[in-house]
Amino acid sequence: MSSTEVSTVSKKGGFDYLIVGAGFAGSVLAERLATQLNKRVLIIDKRQHIAGNAYDHYDEAGVLVHRYGPHIFHTNSREVFDYLSGFTAWRPYEHRVLASVDGQLVPMPINLDTINKLYGLSLTSFELEDFFASVAEEVPHIKTSEDVVVSRVGRELYEKFFRNYTRKQWGMDPSELDKSVTARVPVRTSRDDRYFTDTYQAMPLHGYTAMFSRMLDHPNIKVMLNTDYRELEGVIPYKELIYTGPVDEYFGFRFGKLPYRSLEFRHQTLDKEQHLPAAVINHPNEHAYTRVTEFKYLTGQEHPKTSVVYEYPQAEGDPYYPVPRPENAERYTMYRKLAEAEEGVHFVGRLATYRYYNMDQVVAQALTLFKRLSGEGGPAPVG
Ligand code: FAD
Ligand code: UDP
Repeated sequence: MSSTEVSTVSKKGGFDYLIVGAGFAGSVLAERLATQLNKRVLIIDKRQHIAGNAYDHYDEAGVLVHRYGPHIFHTNSREVFDYLSGFTAWRPYEHRVLASVDGQLVPMPINLDTINKLYGLSLTSFELEDFFASVAEEVPHIKTSEDVVVSRVGRELYEKFFRNYTRKQWGMDPSELDKSVTARVPVRTSRDDRYFTDTYQAMPLHGYTAMFSRMLDHPNIKVMLNTDYRELEGVIPYKELIYTGPVDEYFGFRFGKLPYRSLEFRHQTLDKEQHLPAAVINHPNEHAYTRVTEFKYLTGQEHPKTSVVYEYPQAEGDPYYPVPRPENAERYTMYRKLAEAEEGVHFVGRLATYRYYNMDQVVAQALTLFKRLSGEGGPAPVG
């Protein structure tokens, strides 16, 4: 938006809402407030693009890639799926992952085929349940990410599939992380090799960025990129603020920094149609990266070349993952209290509420906030 446009709007009394961050949280709220309540919204992002971490674009070779790592949409919430369906058609897609363990590529999450292939067995599902029971460790109170796994599949499988991946991804041992982290990945005795079992699993047919463009395409919504919200303080009038950036940063790190885990994404285009035997290969025990993704599996694009991304975990860099462990939860609670007391400011999204949320959970959280802002109740959170 040009400065003339901004000043025209502000002469009419300013914006009703300034929304910081054009990811899922910010964009859903911009769309709802503009179209349902006829509010005038300015949505800004310090990056050069909309869509937050879900941003996708065509790389130099013309392959559609996700700049910030693979984003696979899945949800059990009909409300969330129906809502997003207003802005995109879908490509049905069920995600599958292989893990590289002991020199073999085996299905992840661990399932019947994983164990049979790994150990050269031919167990049935019933026999596998007995096998897990025989190796599982008794853990009276399951608290950590180690507890979750060893109490289900025992120490050997934990060490082959989870321990080193988690140490790489988070820079700490699973015993130091909340159980919710490794509990994201189930263990199965069936042959189901899908990464997710949600009711709705699909990718936006033309990509995420195209979906966000449609959400934000409304005369009441102005989009301003390359702009940190602090640059606008005292410059552009607005009535209320919706903030989707890191909550500790908003409050000037008053209670200290909340840790976020970062990643470096190394993208590569290869001069061949297909590179990997599955969309994602996890490497728990070798390499400095955790996983490699080939985007064409996700997008269904046909192209003579193919693009992949390697994820290298980092301590410093853009904040991607809140780190679920008790002392961080305590520190976040202190920030949450400040946030709740902040008049005219609403905190929403993965960074502003310090939650390891998937996209659908962020959409649900944003729809709930919208209902509150419009005076209605909200649906139960997803997940
Ligand atoms: P974000 O997308 O982070 O948006 C926040 C925006 O705020 C950013 O664009 C940021 O630039 C902007 N901002 C911050 N501070 C300021 C400021 N001061 N001024 C201006 N702008 C600011 N979820 C799934 O459901 N499926 C997946 O497969 C999946 N894969 C993932 C893979 C990776 C590697 C990562 C990191 C996440 C993945 N997620 C996945 C989670 C998903 O990315 C998030 O749930 C979702 O993007 C969060 O949306 P958000 O709006 O809360 O935050
Ligand atoms: N995990 C693991 N080995 C794997 C896959 C996952 O140890 O092969 C653990 C790891 O701690 C990871 C967590 O389970 O951070 C959640 O995995 P998920 O694939 O959901 O991570 P995300 O896609 O959010 O990065």
